[in-house]
Amino acid sequence: MTPPDILRLDNITKRYSSQLPPAVDRVSLALQQGEILGLLGPSGCGKTTLLRLIAGFEQPDDGDVFLGSQSVCGTTWLPPERRDVGIVFQDYALFPHLTVAQNVAFGLQGNSRGGPTATEIEQQTAAAISLVGLEGLKHRFPHELSGGQQQRVALARALAPRPTIILLDEPFSNLDVQVRLYLRQEVRDILRQVGASGVFVTHDQEEALALADRVAVMHQGRLEQIDAPEAVYGQPSSRFVAEFVTQANFLPAQHSAGGWLTEVGCFKAKTDATDQPGSQLGQVDLMVRQEDIALVEDAVGGAVVRDRQFLGREYKYCLQTPAGKWLYARLPVGNPIAIGSRVTITVPSQQVRLYPRQSGDARLEPVGSTGSPPATAML
Ligand code: ATP
Repeated sequence: MTPPDILRLDNITKRYSSQLPPAVDRVSLALQQGEILGLLGPSGCGKTTLLRLIAGFEQPDDGDVFLGSQSVCGTTWLPPERRDVGIVFQDYALFPHLTVAQNVAFGLQGNSRGGPTATEIEQQTAAAISLVGLEGLKHRFPHELSGGQQQRVALARALAPRPTIILLDEPFSNLDVQVRLYLRQEVRDILRQVGASGVFVTHDQEEALALADRVAVMHQGRLEQIDAPEAVYGQPSSRFVAEFVTQANFLPAQHSAGGWLTEVGCFKAKTDATDQPGSQLGQVDLMVRQEDIALVEDAVGGAVVRDRQFLGREYKYCLQTPAGKWLYARLPVGNPIAIGSRVTITVPSQQVRLYPRQSGDARLEPVGSTGSPPATAML
């Protein structure tokens, strides 16, 4: 049986100004008990606004938010402190003059289920501190802790009242890479352990895919796709999702008897072309992911290797097409192809996807047949 929804957004719209497009535009989604949802999108797409709408820090102009079966911004407005929602901010937001234990206990004062006794506060504080592995540090002040430890305190404070939902706003973005990687795994484990449901905001594709049960991809206030990480990555519903989540390559392609003809060769696609909007004219943008490309050195190949980066487990190749477009390919280490070589590109047909032809994309504009790849392109 499907678990009941503990959070439902029903066609939510939020405008900060009547002169500007909405920050959140007709978003509907539901979260089930125990589920972790990642809100993913580029800067300014409305992720934080959506989180603030759930928390009750913003009121929607349209639509409703349901916590369980209760509407919280319809006829009755439920303020943040009565929403039974825990929040973890990017900058930890700890009280500098309070110890770890006092910071965590503070989260219990506003418990919407009534005031706990002093003993209960002590027990719940100790349990939350133990959950995040900070038992030995409970008398320290925030400035005596590392960034990762401070974020654990923030998590303990949010979890202590045992809220139904935890909202996390870019919780790892102030941490260095190593801490970030292990803390995100820990947070996932902790949420699982207590059976909490979570919504976390990130602009990091890898983080969203690694941490979430489902990923909601936002673009200009709209929800573009909400799906399991594998589906978002493997079957992106729009070209935006494909570009943002997988950093895929796109090539203009024309239908021909042999398949989809591009300037670097002809590709077969498993997808039925007639299903693709815009493909009726026989013209599409063909998507190939960097890791799906195979390269063979070939004196008459359609692309030239302009750069190669060693990334440890793989090489990242920067290829240039005859029209000057840049394509990127990731191949296993071994038998490196020399810079300057001509190559033939092949891609398994089941990995090729087709999208309606899009014009005016600066990344696809010809840049001349020589020169260097764009500065950020090899990252
Ligand atoms: P980031 O990843 O950079 O934090 P985001 O996806 O979280 O971005 P939001 O912070 O939700 O995006 O902002 C969405 C849009 O709303 C942006 O255009 C932003 O400039 C605008 N915006 C956000 N907060 C306000 C505000 N208080 N007043 C006016 N406009 C705002």
